[in-house]
Amino acid sequence: MRQVMAGLLPPARKRRSTLVIAASSLGDYMACMSSVRPWRDIERRQCRQIMVGNVPVGGDAPITVQTMTNTPTEDAAATIDQIRRCEEVGCDIIRVSCPTEEATAAFPLITRASNIPIVADIHFHYKRALEAADGGAACLRINPGNIGSSKKVAEVVRAAKANSCAIRIGVNAGSLEKDLLEKYGEPCPEALIESALDHIKLLQDHDFHEFKVAVKASDVFLAVAAYHGLAETVDCPLHLGITEAGGLIGGTVKSSIGMGSLLWAGIGDTIRVSLSAEPEEEVKVGYEMLKALGLRTRGVRVVSCPSCSRQGFDVIRTVETLEKRLEHIKTPMSLSVLGCVVNGPGEARETDIGLTGGGSGKHMVYLSGMKAHTIEDEDMLDHIVKLVEDKAAKIDAGEETAFDPHAVEAAE
Ligand code: SF4
Repeated sequence: MRQVMAGLLPPARKRRSTLVIAASSLGDYMACMSSVRPWRDIERRQCRQIMVGNVPVGGDAPITVQTMTNTPTEDAAATIDQIRRCEEVGCDIIRVSCPTEEATAAFPLITRASNIPIVADIHFHYKRALEAADGGAACLRINPGNIGSSKKVAEVVRAAKANSCAIRIGVNAGSLEKDLLEKYGEPCPEALIESALDHIKLLQDHDFHEFKVAVKASDVFLAVAAYHGLAETVDCPLHLGITEAGGLIGGTVKSSIGMGSLLWAGIGDTIRVSLSAEPEEEVKVGYEMLKALGLRTRGVRVVSCPSCSRQGFDVIRTVETLEKRLEHIKTPMSLSVLGCVVNGPGEARETDIGLTGGGSGKHMVYLSGMKAHTIEDEDMLDHIVKLVEDKAAKIDAGEETAFDPHAVEAAE
């Protein structure tokens, strides 16, 4: 039975694994979970909450999605345009690098135009941190141990306090301190955690507590082990990332395995997917990850089949088109698109709107799980888009609720 139970459960945190051992049968397990669908429960790690601008991070705040601009920061117009595109797809917090004085000179223009809080990414020069804090940064990504003298750390902390800036400590396996590399021989979880604790101590010594921490590595095993260790050690919010994860497909898979396993174990308060792809893509992947785990909802959750020779319409092209045309929908709801009756009606029963391929170019449409009417090939796309838009408008107006149990549970 323990094997069966282990298969049912997420990567176990301590409390949950005690439950696995204590439960002597599946019935016992079900009985001691209060949720209607206990196999979907994620018990989030308890931690302090900090504010990044007007966005809470940690505690019981929703897990936020971040990305980073890749335009030259000195080009304020291009950077603002990119931030807008990221806002459109649901970005909660965005990071902008400040490598030069010219970059921090443009920073106030960018922070004033942005609708979401901006994290200033600082490496090497503490003066850029002072300028960014004065220029409207909601958070400084800076490692206090790399700034230099204690006097400089004190100056950065003073600027952060004066401007209500949070600080994000960002430990990275690729740039671990020399002494830790010598001590441990190579980047390992203990080294990443020790580095994080060293930086944390510097901030605490200056009576600064509005910080969150990341211990990133491009190696999934290393990053996950480091985050697990850190989660047990500190009570601040954690920023998750698998750094330099790769291109859109490879990096998405890697990030989903690493960050997905951490999120499933209840670890992580804000996430950034690092891809060699446009920042908007990172945001979309981050959101899909949270949606898949029922941790956030946003827009249309699409359930669709891979298609086969039974398909009544071209499923792949239909889903591609629908995803594009429904990108503007922010209301959480669901749409199933299946090529035939093998799985179509079953999936449609669980979604707000369902489309199932039928014979002779005539397809079934389901509303809130019930078969409603048929639609012909040529009208199908416009019809489904309109149904989704109408349903979203009704949900937004409070006239209807999302039928999708995933959306309802995540919103609760
Ligand atoms: S739902 Fe039908 S068309 Fe789609 S993969 Fe399954 S059998 Fe094939």
